[in-house]
Amino acid sequence: MKQPIDERLQHLSKAELERLIYDYTISKMKVKKICEKYRIQNVRLSHFFYILPHKLADHPCRHCGSEMYTTYESRSGSRGGKTYCGNCEHIESDCSCRCEPCKANRQARLQLQYEEMRANNLKAREFSNDKRALIREMYAVKSMEPGLPYYLLSFEQALALLSFYYLSNQLEYENLNVFPPLNECSEFIRLAPSVGSVERMIDILTSAGLIAVNPESNLDAFVVENNQLTSSYYLYRVSWIPTLGNDGDEASEYIEDLQNLARNHPWPFRWYDEAGEMWQELSLGECSEILEYYANKFNLSAPLGEKTRMLFKELLHDFSVGQVQAIVYKAVRDAAAYKTQKKYLSSGHAGNLIALICRQYVQKIKANEWPVETYNRSNVCPRTAMSHVLHDIFLGHGEKEHGIIYQAITPAYFGGGLSDDVIDLGVEPVTIKDDSLEKESAVSKTLSIKEVAVRLNKPRSTIASWCKRGVFPNAKLVSGVMWQIPEPDLLDYEARLKPPGRPSRSNEIA
Ligand SMILES: [Zn+2]
Ligand SMILES: [Zn+2]
Repeated sequence: MKQPIDERLQHLSKAELERLIYDYTISKMKVKKICEKYRIQNVRLSHFFYILPHKLADHPCRHCGSEMYTTYESRSGSRGGKTYCGNCEHIESDCSCRCEPCKANRQARLQLQYEEMRANNLKAREFSNDKRALIREMYAVKSMEPGLPYYLLSFEQALALLSFYYLSNQLEYENLNVFPPLNECSEFIRLAPSVGSVERMIDILTSAGLIAVNPESNLDAFVVENNQLTSSYYLYRVSWIPTLGNDGDEASEYIEDLQNLARNHPWPFRWYDEAGEMWQELSLGECSEILEYYANKFNLSAPLGEKTRMLFKELLHDFSVGQVQAIVYKAVRDAAAYKTQKKYLSSGHAGNLIALICRQYVQKIKANEWPVETYNRSNVCPRTAMSHVLHDIFLGHGEKEHGIIYQAITPAYFGGGLSDDVIDLGVEPVTIKDDSLEKESAVSKTLSIKEVAVRLNKPRSTIASWCKRGVFPNAKLVSGVMWQIPEPDLLDYEARLKPPGRPSRSNEIA
């Protein structure tokens, strides 16, 4: 199909027209000048390129085989220059060409992309199914029986287990089917002070067969290399299965028995020494983490080596954790001020100063120049599950531990006499008067979930859920882990069970 010549160019001969196009494209003559030279009128200079006759392209239309034409470009090159079909409206290299064959092609491409995407999703799902199957095989829980009966656990194992259980409750994992992954912890809800002790706890629990990696943990908790599942997993991403019994009731029973053993004395004999060690370990962790916290805050590097550990051990002989934390804070602050004055002092050197300044403070305290009695535990690193369980459940002095200076743990620590087991230990009894213990014995009798379950002939899990739902209005959750049900609440409940007029069984019990 021949392109008609624009009427504004029709006065030119074929030779003149060729000359004009040469002037426009090759000589780059100014459009205004071209219009004068060739006597062209009624055209906006910026639209001049539109009226030029279109060039025949060197290839036919790929859809219909007709001739293609190319328009000239504007001077700036931003418009024109398109190759189109003289027959079917196809425009070459235009991804939004509106000719029918192009529309159909685009539709087909979209369909193809969609199918590819679906196939990929399917493949991904198949891989994750495969991966889950492999994980289930690799991490199959061999036995739900606990590795040790509760009364044979070491103190550290018992502490680690109850701490994890406590944490689990804090994170609202309320039953014993699964313990949460540690990456759900926050700065307020944590297992133990430093990263080191968290890893140690998990190690202790897994090697004692008290928890196992949950094969239903998130898929990204397991390490894949070169599309192969490895035997490694991310410690903070996996969730855990407490292997404490074959069903929820057995597991609850295990935990409850262990808690009762922890609260009531005498303990298994070997626990006494270990308890003191754990108290010291926890206190060291708590002091170190405060040191790290303040050093970071004041841009110093925290000296967290063996020397500092020895210093803290020494300090904890004379001061409570709260007091040591106060000393650490002042020492870090002074070291930072010193660093600002002496500009040549590096952060590392200033860090080492901290220990020195701590010792100076201790001298001042001992010379009565600075009172520390009133210092409570710092609240910048809140208490961890380990602290709650050790101080509230095992040692029973609860919040008072703020002011308590670390001591060796003997049966006498709890106010009881020496049992036969420890008579020849040669320790000097230290008596801490704990009036919360006296208060507890003064109020009416309370029952544990286990006792109520036996009395009502119901599973423990039912009683626990009743406690949560307020069936026993005065039941209280002690230390976040253990229900205490006042006997009058139980009697009320039993009375409600009986229809009026029939003798109430609660009378027999009372
Ligand atoms: Zn065509
Ligand atoms: Zn087209």
